[in-house]
Amino acid sequence: MVKLFDAHCHLQDPRIFNKVPQLIRTAVDTGIVCFAVNGITEKDWHLVKQMSESYPSVIPCFGLHPWFVTERTPNWLSTLKEFFESTPSAAVGEIGLDKGSRGREIDFTDQIEVFRQQLELAKELKRPASVHCVRAFGDLLQIMKSVGPFPDGVILHSFLGSAEMVPEFSKLGAYFSFSGFLMSMKESKAKKMLKSVPAERILLETDAPDALPKSNNFDSLFPIEGDDSLPAGFQIQGEDSTSNCCSPSQNQSQDARDASAQPKETLNHPANIHYVLKYVASLLEMSEEELADLSYRNALHLFSYKGSKVLLEG
Ligand SMILES: [Zn+2]
Repeated sequence: MVKLFDAHCHLQDPRIFNKVPQLIRTAVDTGIVCFAVNGITEKDWHLVKQMSESYPSVIPCFGLHPWFVTERTPNWLSTLKEFFESTPSAAVGEIGLDKGSRGREIDFTDQIEVFRQQLELAKELKRPASVHCVRAFGDLLQIMKSVGPFPDGVILHSFLGSAEMVPEFSKLGAYFSFSGFLMSMKESKAKKMLKSVPAERILLETDAPDALPKSNNFDSLFPIEGDDSLPAGFQIQGEDSTSNCCSPSQNQSQDARDASAQPKETLNHPANIHYVLKYVASLLEMSEEELADLSYRNALHLFSYKGSKVLLEG
């Protein structure tokens, strides 16, 4: 079985938090050895920390995501630093810049200030930083040039930039991480871009619970649908479908299922990284085994900073 490393996900997300034990078990069973779980606001850093203490496979990452900069407290940076002090195995993320995804308008001056402070912190701590960038690659490059270079790595997560951008970011120490979002990019453009990325800088991720890979080309994608059902093939121990248990919650969820004719949001989870692997390998014209091995070794190298769990596990 191939080994895989989910270089960027959000298992602390409230939409999937209660399913984490099953999601991790299934992912581990299909060869996913590590999960870099990225916090996004001051409010979820403790959940990420707890998860990393419960699961040896979870690499904690703490960061303030650009979508949440307006709700930061005056002490956000000192709180963040405390999390790093008490969690030597942590990396930085998710941080970044966003000029208008999903119609969000967040003061860009604020975003830049918060991003720069966290990027400087990552450099000072000698940890990789997981970066979100939407329509702001020019600003990102400028800031990375002024703060960098980054010998400990910067992960451009769910990268959807062009082939032309790759060399400059690469020179500064960037890794390029690919998720199901890549399937939304024109195939010829994605192929050209992928082929421009140095082999030792390629990573794979799910960004779960977002970025569900498109399932058109695949036979058996296991989605998580809604809040009250498990992905196909998943069972909570002692609560299988044949049980006669009539707990109120079970009745309630049955009612909810019957009542909901409207489509439910479909959520992603780490085991779906296999579909990302399949897609990226096909565009790179590599075997899945070869890409799995390459991206896994890249992730191990990147996450082997001082204090890291990866390093401790050898
Ligand atoms: Zn993310």
